[in-house]
Amino acid sequence: MTNETIDKNGSVVVVGAGQAGFSVCAKLRDLGHTGPITLVGNEAQPPYQRPPLSKGYLLGDITEDRLFLRPLAFYEQKAIQLRLGVQAEEIDRQRQNVLLSDRSVLPYSHLVLATGSRPRVLNQEQGGDLEGVYYVRSIADTKKMAPEFKAGRHVLVVGGGYIGLEAAAVSSKLGLRVTLIESAPRILQRVASVQTASFFQQLHRSHDVEICEGVELAMLTGRNGRVAQAHMKDGRTYDVDFVIVGIGIHPNLELAQAAGLEIDNGIKVDAQCRTSDPTIFAAGDCASFPWKGRRIRLESVGNGIDQGEAVAKTITGASEYYTAKPWFWSDQFDIKLQIVGLAAGHDSAVMRKISENALSIWHYQGDELLAVDAINQPAAFMVSKRLIEGGRSPDPKVVADLDIDLKSLLHS
Ligand code: NAP
Repeated sequence: MTNETIDKNGSVVVVGAGQAGFSVCAKLRDLGHTGPITLVGNEAQPPYQRPPLSKGYLLGDITEDRLFLRPLAFYEQKAIQLRLGVQAEEIDRQRQNVLLSDRSVLPYSHLVLATGSRPRVLNQEQGGDLEGVYYVRSIADTKKMAPEFKAGRHVLVVGGGYIGLEAAAVSSKLGLRVTLIESAPRILQRVASVQTASFFQQLHRSHDVEICEGVELAMLTGRNGRVAQAHMKDGRTYDVDFVIVGIGIHPNLELAQAAGLEIDNGIKVDAQCRTSDPTIFAAGDCASFPWKGRRIRLESVGNGIDQGEAVAKTITGASEYYTAKPWFWSDQFDIKLQIVGLAAGHDSAVMRKISENALSIWHYQGDELLAVDAINQPAAFMVSKRLIEGGRSPDPKVVADLDIDLKSLLHS
């Protein structure tokens, strides 16, 4: 740790008012940072949780005020200045300041880029600019599409990741007819195992959601500027009332790139979340960090919170190296999926099945437990999270044995 990094009175500017940006600011104050903190966000709202946007908020179960991470009074009490509805346009690394879209200039001793990500979009040739084509990224996106959810209408969901599947489940619950297309050979290809994908495929089909895997959208066509039909590359055509697109995200890297910071699939940071400029840090979806001998980006709330806190620790000199503890969850119909670890590279998997709707899948590489997908099995999630975080790998035969209480694995 260099002394120039430790400065409890310095001015910290955080660009990006999502989960990671919020986490940096809140942790800085917890750790006794006394200097000015400014949080810049391009949306109108103070930091809010995004996960309910494709779940309870979309369903209408959660009101907007329940999305906010903290009430406005919190920022006042903690002297965190919110600059909302403005874009950070340029970083002047020599002068150590940031130019905002309202032409104001914010000087910094430490700058944090928590710029997040934006949805991949369908291009104009694919009909992506037609009315009735929606994305699920912001409160504004969800509000815009809310009036479309009327029972009996037909929604096409493009993409079988979490966004697509959660939006499909909500649409089905609201009485819509749902068709979901996934261009990869199976849903959840990027984020969950074959067994988990197959479970969710069955779940959706049991609720009459039409799941089409290995099917690619050719284009959407419309009437009077509004989407009306979806044409697949295999020749199928659907009449549709509206379309929800969840085909992945792009990290927001332009600001960092223009400032000449090193990029490697994300803003490249070291184990203490520092970019190639020691006064600038990055956290959350946009940051590419070292992990088990390689470099990854993690698109998850858990990473946004933890990495944001790690940045605050580095700035205040309370730092240890950031060790990511990947975990994810998804709610679809009455099923809760909880995932710990990253299954990429696993060469075997064992299932612990309590019932049709309560099971966990444990992924190993050799003898090492890499990841566990727990379906309606909070205990399996809790135990495996502690095991993986502690670097412990139970014998797969023991895991599959229903006579053995999972909690006993923590003491063996
Ligand atoms: P995602 O996880 O990347 O899934 C998108 C899927 O759509 C991929 O399987 C992708 O296949 C497929 N796809 C791409 N282009 C397509 C096309 N033209 N037609 C049909 N399918 C296509 O991303 P997402 O579901 O959009 O989610 C966005 C972000 O929000 C991710 O970071 C996600 O983790 C996060 N999120 C998380 C949760 C949760 O944890 N519960 C919930 C919602 C969102 P290829 O990979 O082959 O391109």
